[in-house]
Amino acid sequence: ASGYTLMRDPRHNKGLAFTERERDAHYLRGLLPPIVLSQELQEKRIMHMLRQYKVPLQRYMAMMDLQERNERLFYKLLIDNVEELLPVVYTPTVGEACQKYGSIFRRPQGLYISLKEKGKILEVLKNWPERSVQVIVVTDGERILGLGDLGCQGMGIPVGKLSLYTALGGVRPSACLPITIDVGTNNEKLLNNEFYIGLRQRRATGQEYAELLHEFMSAVKQNYGEKVLIQFEDFANHNAFELLARYRSSHLVFNDDIQGTASVVLAGLLAALKLLGGTLADHRFLFLGAGEAGTGIAELIALEMSKQTGNPIEENRKKIWLVDSKGLIVDSRKHSLQHFKKPWAHEHEPVSKLVDAVKAIKPTVLIGTSGVGKQFTREVVEAMASINEKPLIMALSNPTSQAECTAEEAYTWSEGRAIFASGSPFDPFEYDGKVFVPGQANNAYIFPGFGLGVIMSGAIRVHDDMLLTASEALAAQVTEEHFKKGLIYPPFSDIRKISANIAAKVAAKAYELGLASHLPQPEDLVKYAESCMYSPVYRSYR
Ligand code: NAP
Ligand code: MN
Repeated sequence: ASGYTLMRDPRHNKGLAFTERERDAHYLRGLLPPIVLSQELQEKRIMHMLRQYKVPLQRYMAMMDLQERNERLFYKLLIDNVEELLPVVYTPTVGEACQKYGSIFRRPQGLYISLKEKGKILEVLKNWPERSVQVIVVTDGERILGLGDLGCQGMGIPVGKLSLYTALGGVRPSACLPITIDVGTNNEKLLNNEFYIGLRQRRATGQEYAELLHEFMSAVKQNYGEKVLIQFEDFANHNAFELLARYRSSHLVFNDDIQGTASVVLAGLLAALKLLGGTLADHRFLFLGAGEAGTGIAELIALEMSKQTGNPIEENRKKIWLVDSKGLIVDSRKHSLQHFKKPWAHEHEPVSKLVDAVKAIKPTVLIGTSGVGKQFTREVVEAMASINEKPLIMALSNPTSQAECTAEEAYTWSEGRAIFASGSPFDPFEYDGKVFVPGQANNAYIFPGFGLGVIMSGAIRVHDDMLLTASEALAAQVTEEHFKKGLIYPPFSDIRKISANIAAKVAAKAYELGLASHLPQPEDLVKYAESCMYSPVYRSYR
């Protein structure tokens, strides 16, 4: 290829890092200024520039431009500065980007499949230039983060998630395919916005929706085979549960909002047990919020209890209680409950307020997944602290403004006894001379390594045991030193190592279950995982 095309291709471009020899060999002389910069210097320069931008959305756009211009440099930045850049390419900034996507739109970044493409989805898939796709992240834009229905502008989410698959899990960028399915939007503001990029109609539902999704799922399997991982992302909960149930036995599917969340929270609980003592089955759980996150976590906890004790899952579910917008979920409400809540309708009189539910159920663990902020009031936290020596409190709702309580509140109201983790990050807090570091139950701990494990073993289905294994693998990365600070998750800066470990364990489980198709099984799975991981270091062109 001529140097000029090399420069214009984001996968090959090295910018000023093309060496003298490369410039000679590939007709690049004169197309670049004379200086040769190292990738490290380029990285330093761009980080410096990013930090000058005070508006988060400007940082986001600069990162997206870099991804389109020089892919390896983009990933080098992301990997080396993960804690600083994660909030830029993913939540919270990606949320704002999705809201304004119509105005900031420059390049498609992924595949758009709308109702207009009905009957032609296979052809649409063939238009995508990459042949060996291994992970698809797909959304229909109905529940983007905590921002609601953003329709077609949800594309920022699959794009962002997949950049984390590469940066944190080492999946090759060319193997990642972001897809947005556009069945309309019920967001009036977008429907009336002249720059909106999606179909200008209200959402298709029922059979029309189901048929489009079915055509999509069939086309993906036909085009890419059984081993492509399809991650459902940010679907509204009624569709999310239904799609997972419908396709889990015929396709390789994973829902991060349900399963990924469950796995990362279970990991925190398993780690916390080392601080709290006892086994999982010795604990009692109360959730505020019974949607994708809440019921997903609850089910995985019950499953892990079954693994540990051999008791039937129905019995374990009785140790787990959930509160939704109508109060405690109890048997007398059973007839009017959505099906995913039914397993949690235990025998109890109705309780409407959370604080009364805490007093009645006496949980050892309180988990917030309602999406509504400030629900763990002083009264609630004090009730938890009066029941438990060390109350475990997880305030998972995002973004920060929606957290059920802050780290400061949890530590202060429990007089420094709470073990606390949250969905959004909180700074360390000093109470009574001791510094507490709140853990962040970030899904990005699990899904990249999980996906890598699935891919490297050639797994053809996701089995719940693989999720349990991922939780155990993550919990095992928490050391004595972390526990001393109150941490129940390892530091995020080690994420590539953590991902390799999770991948190895997930792959091992896939082999054990007979779901792996990549044979023979590599001897050292951690080494193998590391060897599979994409490196963003420039290649040399001879
Ligand atoms: P979802 O499926 O819409 O579920 C929300 C649940 O909260 C529903 O059961 C709803 O009750 C309940 N709820 C709403 N308002 C309430 C109130 N005032 N009191 C009691 N319950 C109330 O949403 P989701 O996907 O589970 O997400 C929920 C939250 O979890 C979001 O803020 C999300 O950011 C967070 N989350 C965090 C992580 C993480 O930290 N890693 C991962 C995933 C999600 P009804 O069913 O009665 O409507
Ligand atoms: Mn999500």
